[in-house]
This record gives sequence, structure tokens and C-alpha cells, in this order.
Amino acid sequence: TRELKIPATGLVVLVGVSGSGKSHFARRHFRPTQVVSSDFCRAAVSDDESDQAATGDAFELLHHIVRTRLRRGLLTVVDATNVQPRSRESLLAVARDQDALACAIVLDVPEHVAVERNAARPDRDLAPHVVPRQRRELRRGLKSLHREFKRVHVLTGVDEIDAAVLVPER
Ligand code: ATP
Ligand code: MG
Repeated sequence: TRELKIPATGLVVLVGVSGSGKSHFARRHFRPTQVVSSDFCRAAVSDDESDQAATGDAFELLHHIVRTRLRRGLLTVVDATNVQPRSRESLLAVARDQDALACAIVLDVPEHVAVERNAARPDRDLAPHVVPRQRRELRRGLKSLHREFKRVHVLTGVDEIDAAVLVPER
């Protein structure tokens, strides 16, 4: 097992390509209400989890929920790919505004694992370039990720991801 310290009343940002297992990880480690996902927010504003035209409104809603929960001192987990520095910046700004600690958990699985998982999903029909592009964005941003967050946990491979135990710290 590997113990990962997370802020008990702060922000946990999951980072990983589609199919890396963010939603699975979130379900395993957190209560449903602690997790705010881009899928949920997209569906909430469009009745369609895959409506890309709703992305702007979906993230506005996501940020609103995150801000409100952090203001109320509640542990909040963001389940979205977060591979682009820009997407993390806006979340970090929300955390900073609320004086909340933020940590990142990177789920790094081999490309073929993500691709094979996605192929088996009825809810995902991704173009072949999507996962490779997300992996490039993640690789490119890994250095800055360590500057952005006080604490970054990088879990490499399915075994390391499955062995993680989260320890909330006050
Ligand atoms: P997206 O960004 O597209 O929402 P995701 O990172 O949330 O992707 P998940 O939905 O968690 O990915 O996982 C994709 C598929 O892989 C799911 O069918 C899930 O059951 C399976 N999966 C995820 N993590 C694991 C794991 N640790 N062991 C076995 N299967 C897993
Ligand atoms: Mg997901």
C-alpha cells in the first residue's frame, strides 16, 4: 500500500487521461457528494454527458460547486481530466480564494490501458487522437504541476493506483 496525504477540508484535483480511472478511483475513495465531475456538470446543464458545446457552462457550474463547498469547509474532489495547466489554474484560483489547501493526484496508466478501457465503454466514443493528445499534454505539464500544487502524488501504473490509501490531514 502507499499512503497519500490529502487535505481533510481542501481540494483534491484528479489528473489523468480519459480511461485512466479517475471516476473509478473517486468512487473507491470518496463519498459521492464529495466528488464533482465534469460529466455530471455537463449533463446537468445539457441533459447530455458528451455535449461538448456545453463545456463552458459545465465548468462554470463545476467551479461554482467547488467554491461553495470549499467555503463551507468541505473536502472536494474534482473528477475531470485536468491535463491542461489552464484547467488546473482556474481550480487553484478558486482554492486560493477560499484559503483552501489543494493537492493533485495523477493517475498515469500506459496508453494501451486507457485506450482498451475506453473501447469497452458504452459511454465513451473517443476519436483515436484524443488519449495520445491528453498524454502529451500531461507529460508536458508535469513539471509545472509540481510548482502549482503544494502536494502532488503521481501514481504510475494500475498496481500503484489500486494500492493507494488516502490519509486525510488536518
Ligand atoms: P473519463 O475521463 O473518460 O471520465 P476516467 O478516468 O474517469 O475517464 P473511469 O471511468 O474511471 O475513467 O475508468 C474507465 C474504465 O476502466 C471503467 O470502465 C472502469 O471500470 C475501468 N477501470 C478504471 N479503473 C480501474 C481499475 N483500477 N481497475 C480495473 N478497472 C478499472
Ligand atoms: Mg470519468
